[in-house]
Amino acid sequence: MRIMPDKVTPFASLLRGIVITFLLAGTLALSSYGVYTWHQEKSDVEENLLILSGYLASASQSFYENLGNSLEPLGQLLDSKNVLQNPEIARPLLNRFQSRYPEIGAMALFSPEGAMLINTATPPGTKLPDFRADPPYFKQIQAVLADTNIYVVGPPEYGKVIKQWRFPFRHVVRDQDGRARFILQAAIPLENNSPFLEHLPVPPDSYIGLLRDDGLQQARWPAGDPSKIYGRMSQGPVAQMVRVDPKIQSSSFSGVSPWSPTDGQRLGAFTRLAKAPFYAYISAPAGYLWDRWWRRNAPVLISFLMFLLIFYFITYRVTAREHTHSRELIKQARHDSLTDLPNRLAAEEILDAEIRLAALTQQGFAVLFLDLDRFKDINDTLGHQVGDQLLVAVTTAVKAVLRHSDVLSRFAGDEFLVIIPGSDEKHAVFTCERLINLFASPFQIDDHVLPITASIGIALYPNHGTDIGTLIKHADTAMYEAKRQGRNAFVVYEQDIGDKIRQRISLEQRLRESLLKEEFRLVYQPILDLNSGRLVGVEALLRWADSEGRLRFPAEFIHVAEESGLILPLGEWVLHTACTQIKAWNNAGYNLWVAVNLSTRQFQDPNLVSKVIEVLRSTELEPTLLELEITESAAMLNPQASIEILGRLKAMGVHIAIDDFGTGYSSLSYLKRIPADKIKIDKSFVDGVTNDPDDIAIVRTIIALANTLEMHTLAEGIETAEQLRAIEKFGCKQAQGYWISHPLPPDMLEELFGRYDADNSTRAQK
Ligand code: C2E
Ligand code: MG
Ligand code: MG
Repeated sequence: MRIMPDKVTPFASLLRGIVITFLLAGTLALSSYGVYTWHQEKSDVEENLLILSGYLASASQSFYENLGNSLEPLGQLLDSKNVLQNPEIARPLLNRFQSRYPEIGAMALFSPEGAMLINTATPPGTKLPDFRADPPYFKQIQAVLADTNIYVVGPPEYGKVIKQWRFPFRHVVRDQDGRARFILQAAIPLENNSPFLEHLPVPPDSYIGLLRDDGLQQARWPAGDPSKIYGRMSQGPVAQMVRVDPKIQSSSFSGVSPWSPTDGQRLGAFTRLAKAPFYAYISAPAGYLWDRWWRRNAPVLISFLMFLLIFYFITYRVTAREHTHSRELIKQARHDSLTDLPNRLAAEEILDAEIRLAALTQQGFAVLFLDLDRFKDINDTLGHQVGDQLLVAVTTAVKAVLRHSDVLSRFAGDEFLVIIPGSDEKHAVFTCERLINLFASPFQIDDHVLPITASIGIALYPNHGTDIGTLIKHADTAMYEAKRQGRNAFVVYEQDIGDKIRQRISLEQRLRESLLKEEFRLVYQPILDLNSGRLVGVEALLRWADSEGRLRFPAEFIHVAEESGLILPLGEWVLHTACTQIKAWNNAGYNLWVAVNLSTRQFQDPNLVSKVIEVLRSTELEPTLLELEITESAAMLNPQASIEILGRLKAMGVHIAIDDFGTGYSSLSYLKRIPADKIKIDKSFVDGVTNDPDDIAIVRTIIALANTLEMHTLAEGIETAEQLRAIEKFGCKQAQGYWISHPLPPDMLEELFGRYDADNSTRAQK
């Protein structure tokens, strides 16, 4: 079985559309919100860092001023105490000063020649270093002496006395002539934590520091490994920015710390001190931004994300259900529940797919249209339940004949469509032979043995059509032709079948119209009684005055009326008209009966008996004045039923004649049981009754047989006096034929009756 295309209902796809749109919109909103808040947070953090660096710069500046400028009065006070002679005098004053500045690690005095005079970090009497032996340090001292500012901030250095990295504040005390008397120094240790770090709301893991405008690292807290930092030129982002733009006042920056590269990317800001060549900076880990952003926005983001997830989950479930539901619907819409086969819709889809495939592969295939013969009769007589069971049984049997790759579908009621991929005409014919064979033995449903057959039409792709409609139509046409050829057969589509069928359909249409417009006529052919030489009855024969006014004979149209079922209303009309006519003639004094022909289809009509009763009642005709003619083959089609129906008609008094006798293949044993009154010997035997020994033998045998069965005989088609004499000699009771009279319309017949009665005796002797 081919796979159906995966389709869903419009509602399911609408729902899917809504979900996708909503999720896309949601994701877009979420990411825009994320990007927006991230930028917001970043500029917030940068601004905060800038403010912090500004604060650091002004705090450092005021510390510089405060400490640096306070050194001057202290220096004057010390000078007035004559500390050069006795430096120990300075110790209490220096200690007091130091206690006012907790940042100061030690206070010291130097002689302009570089000898340390006193240091508060060492007890009195300790030997103090003489820097005259230390040329780089001595050079610094000399630079300080040359500097006329109130205070000088020295580069970081490793303290010889306090044994720590520190940076020094120095003030030169001079006499009236400006000559240096001594140097006063306050040393700020760099390895202790900065007081700012404790009191400022700096981000965790921040570094703060001071950078000289030439890039020298002046201070950094926390210091980490101080010997790797201090006294060195920085290559970090601040130093680089300052080097590029020496006039820069403040800025944000990002980059890696030159002193702690393993810390990774950092964000920071720096600001220049107002009156000193230093920059104060602060840097924080870049992750801080992420932390802050996440802490602030996580509730919103997570809630929204949860909402999206829940929404998605719910709609996913709903959509999934809708999908299953719609797939179920689609399956149902393409499935025949009785036979479990694909239905017409599915068959057409499969055929469509097969056509595409065949167009690609250049390989032909066959479409079979299979219709059960007279299935309706089974349905009508045995009920739908048996009909349904029969369809299922047929499906199983047909499946067994088909290959796995063939597609069997139930097209409608008792119509099946078979698609045989890759099949040529030979293979299709072979399959049909097998299918027809399958119906050779009857189906057993419950207690019923059902002899059912099928008619099959074959259409081949691409010869008979390249689209669904044409292929099905042509297979159907061929099937119709198989029915016409007597059913239980298959036919391969040909162009002229279509033409014939079209002609037949148009004829059927015209017949239908004519029935309504009453364009049918009856003519009557008289029947001569050979004993009395009188006209005793007439046979009603149908004529069609078609739209062009032509009278057409039954041979031209009766088979179409039969096939289309039109014969039923037409036959009723014939019966009624004939009975009415005979009644009228009887009333007028003509003592005649009428013979009416019944077709096979009429004979199978379950309402036949009641229709006859109704006509006799409405025309008030004596039943004995009606003779019904059925052909031998119609009676023999279902002998059992024929015996029963004819028995009922006969019981009413209606006469029965077997028409065209000798042309069928009657079984003598049945013929014996058929309650007929008369046998009409077919014209083909009468033709040779004067000269053909075979015909003579047959006619004599029939007459003898009829006598044994106590039936009358009538010879049809008497065209000569010799024929009439011959059959009379053989003992035939009645005669009908052109020699006596052609079939005539009622008014002309009345004339004949009169004439016949007049010279009856003369004519009988001819
Ligand atoms: P049938 O019942 O055997 O009717 C006799 C046919 O033989 C009639 O042809 C009649 O005109 C023709 N015939 C009579 N005498 C001669 C003769 O001497 N020579 C020749 N060559 N033919 C003769 P018709 O009217 O064309 O009817 C043909 C058949 O059509 C009938 O055969 C009958 O089977 C059928 N038919 C006619 N009318 C009806 C009808 O109302 N209902 C049904 N179901 N069938 C009808
Ligand atoms: Mg007849
Ligand atoms: Mg006949």
